[in-house]
Amino acid sequence: MKIGFIGLGIMGKPMVRNLLKAGHEVVVYDIIDENVEILAADGAIPADSARKVAEQCGVVITMLPNSPHVKTAVLGKDGVLEGAGENTILIDMSSIAPKASQEIAKACAEKGIRMLDAPVSGGEPKAVDGTLSIMVGGDKELFEQVKHDILLKMGSSAVWCGDIGAGNTTKLANQVIVALNIAAVAEAFTLAKKSGVKPELVFDAIRGGLAGSTVMDAKVPMMLEGNKEPGFKIDLHIKDLANALDTGHEAGSPMPLAALVMEMMQTLKADGLGQKDHSALSEYYAKLSGTELANR
Ligand code: NAD
Repeated sequence: MKIGFIGLGIMGKPMVRNLLKAGHEVVVYDIIDENVEILAADGAIPADSARKVAEQCGVVITMLPNSPHVKTAVLGKDGVLEGAGENTILIDMSSIAPKASQEIAKACAEKGIRMLDAPVSGGEPKAVDGTLSIMVGGDKELFEQVKHDILLKMGSSAVWCGDIGAGNTTKLANQVIVALNIAAVAEAFTLAKKSGVKPELVFDAIRGGLAGSTVMDAKVPMMLEGNKEPGFKIDLHIKDLANALDTGHEAGSPMPLAALVMEMMQTLKADGLGQKDHSALSEYYAKLSGTELANR
């Protein structure tokens, strides 16, 4: 199948490679020419606008930072809508506001283009391995149509969550849990260290118990090493929490804990750590307590 792919960053590049590996032809575009060239060298077909991608492909995937980028690439000048024929399928795999997914899908429907929102969880390593968790909103039959040949070539699970926007609502729930969990482990491990107990021993003692989590396993070792290389950047998590808070306010679902962690992340961003991994939340506690988790 000939698939279009727009947005060739940390996640987009390995996702395209997995589609190529599965035998698809992939037409690629990014506003950064170098990203297009890198994938062209891997066998993808380069294009110089989102419109030209859509002119050639019955299925177009977008993997862009946030709602405004998806609106520009799909609805803007030289965007997907200008090039797409009727019955084109748009799969937006970016993590954006659910409301934006609904607005974009509505504009697409007016041209006969069907859309799914299909954000992912798992980060770059799972994008490389093709083992992302994919959460999908939109028409269920359309989801079934693309599930095996497309989505499961990039992920190990793809779950239909409801109508358009439900994929991104699910992703926001995921991002709230991850943010709060990172803050919880940073706070608790700082307490242990400040009280004179080695955090390495606390980790060994509790990771198999009820407090254990994927977040604890992935992020505590980074905190203890003082490794802040992303992973998932604080700036991107701020974007997700902003979308979560807006969505919560609109739905009448208060989010006091997410609001608090948002301000902690904003403090780190103001300190120049926006491009660092979200596990750098431990630095917030280092400032409050005067105790670094990392043994430097
Ligand atoms: P990234 O910033 O590395 O890549 C985004 C790419 O989009 C860039 O190459 C940029 O040049 C391109 N772009 C921006 N506007 C464009 C436009 N109008 N037309 C064409 N290209 C455009 O971001 P990423 O880490 O690949 O993340 C993409 C999405 O996936 C985000 O929504 C992010 O929250 C989500 N996500 C990221 C991770 C992760 O670990 N990095 C994990 C899960 C989900």
